[in-house]
Amino acid sequence: MSVATGVTADPYLPGHGDPSYTVRHYDLDLDYALESNSLKGRAVLTIEALEPVRQLTLDLHALNVVKVTGPKAGRHTHRGGRLNIRLTEEVSPGETTTLTVTYRGVPRTVPDKIGDAGWEELTDGVIVASQPGGAPSWFPCNDRPDAKSTYRLAITVANDYLVVAGGERTDLRRRAGRTTWTYEQRNPMATYLATVQIGRYDEIALPGSVPLTAAVPPARRAAFQAAFADQPAMLEFFSRCFGPYPFDSYRVVVTDDALEIPLEAGGLSIFGSNLLNRSWDAQRLIAHELAHQWFGNAVTLRRLHDIWLHEGFACYSEWLWSEESGGPSADARAREHWSRLRHHRFSRALGDPGIAQVFDDWVYKRGALTLHAIRRAIGDESFFALLRTWIDRHRGGNVTTGEFVALADELGHPQVAAIVDAWVYETPLPALV
Ligand SMILES: [Zn+2]
Repeated sequence: MSVATGVTADPYLPGHGDPSYTVRHYDLDLDYALESNSLKGRAVLTIEALEPVRQLTLDLHALNVVKVTGPKAGRHTHRGGRLNIRLTEEVSPGETTTLTVTYRGVPRTVPDKIGDAGWEELTDGVIVASQPGGAPSWFPCNDRPDAKSTYRLAITVANDYLVVAGGERTDLRRRAGRTTWTYEQRNPMATYLATVQIGRYDEIALPGSVPLTAAVPPARRAAFQAAFADQPAMLEFFSRCFGPYPFDSYRVVVTDDALEIPLEAGGLSIFGSNLLNRSWDAQRLIAHELAHQWFGNAVTLRRLHDIWLHEGFACYSEWLWSEESGGPSADARAREHWSRLRHHRFSRALGDPGIAQVFDDWVYKRGALTLHAIRRAIGDESFFALLRTWIDRHRGGNVTTGEFVALADELGHPQVAAIVDAWVYETPLPALV
C-alpha cells in the first residue's frame, strides 16, 4: 500500500493513519498559553517501517508545521490534515528512524462523521477527548488504533493550573510563573487514548491497590468524595473479574463544566461535574469508564467496526457492578435491556454497525447482551476465565472478534462461535435464553 494513493488504515476513520509504518514512541514537548489558546510543540517520533517506506504520512489537524527534521527527513507538504514527508532514503521493514516535527497554532477539534474530537477549551482550562479521531488536533501522529506507542509528554502552562495526563508523573519544574509537567506512559497505547487535561484542580489521593488520584475543582471536593466513594471497590471487583488492573495508575478528572458524556483515556477517565451524584446513571458510567482500562485501553480493537469489543464489554461491566453493589442482577439488567431492544429496528449487524452508528446505545447494549448470552451458555467460571485469559494474552495489543471466538474455542467452548454469529454478525435480535 502506498500513501500516495491516499490509503488509510481504517475505513471507519477515513483520512486518518498510514498503514506502512508504526510509531514506537512519541516524545512531546509542548508549550500552551491558555489566554490565547495557542500551542507550540516539538514532537520526536520513533518510527518503525512495516514495509519499504520512501515517504510517509502523519496526521496533524489545523496546526502549522514549522519544520520537519531527522536523519532521513526530506521535503514535506501539509494539506487537509495530512503531513506527507519524503524520506531521503528508504527505511526497510523492521528498521527505525526518527522524525522531529516542530509546529504551532491554535488547536481545533477534528471533525468527523461521529462527532468532533480532540483538544477543546473549557470555561477555564482544556479537555482532550480524542475518541476516535481527535489525536491530530494536538500532536502529529499515525492516527490508527492498531499503532500502539509509548509516550513522554512535557507541557508548560501557567502556574495556577494542574496538568493531568496518563502514566507516571516524572518531573515538575516551576520557572518564572510557568510550570512544566512531565508524564511518561510506558504501557503502549493507541493515539486516541493519549490526553492532556488542564484546569484549576485540586489533586486528591484515594485509597487503592494501585495509585488512584483525582483532579477536581476545589468547590466540588465534597460532591466528588460522595459520588466516587465506590471507585476503589469497583477497581478491586473488576481486578477479580478481569485480572490485575492493566496500567500503572488510574486518574479521574472532573471538569467544572458539565459534559455530555464521560470519556476514557489511557490510565485516566474524564467526567463532567454533572455526574457528581449517587444516581445509577452516574455510578454505571464511573464503572463503565474504569472497565475500559481493560477493554479498549489495554486490549484494543484493530478496526473500529469491532467497537463492541470495547463498548459491549464496558457496558456489561456496568451490569456486573450493579449486581456486586446490591442493585439488580446482571441477568435482570440484561433482560430489561433485551426487552427494550426488541423494539429497535436493526439496520446493521453489531459486528459492522457503520461509521454513523458506531457509538449508538444499541451497540453498547447488544454487545453486553452478547456477553451475557455467552456467560449463560458456558457458565460463570468458564466465562470469567475467558475474560481474564483474553486480557492476559492481548494486553498491550490489538484484537478482532475472530480472535475472541478462537480463544473461546481453544478454552473448550466451541459453542461461542454460533452465539457470536447470531448476536454479532446477523442482524435480527436473538432470543435471550
Ligand atoms: Zn465506553
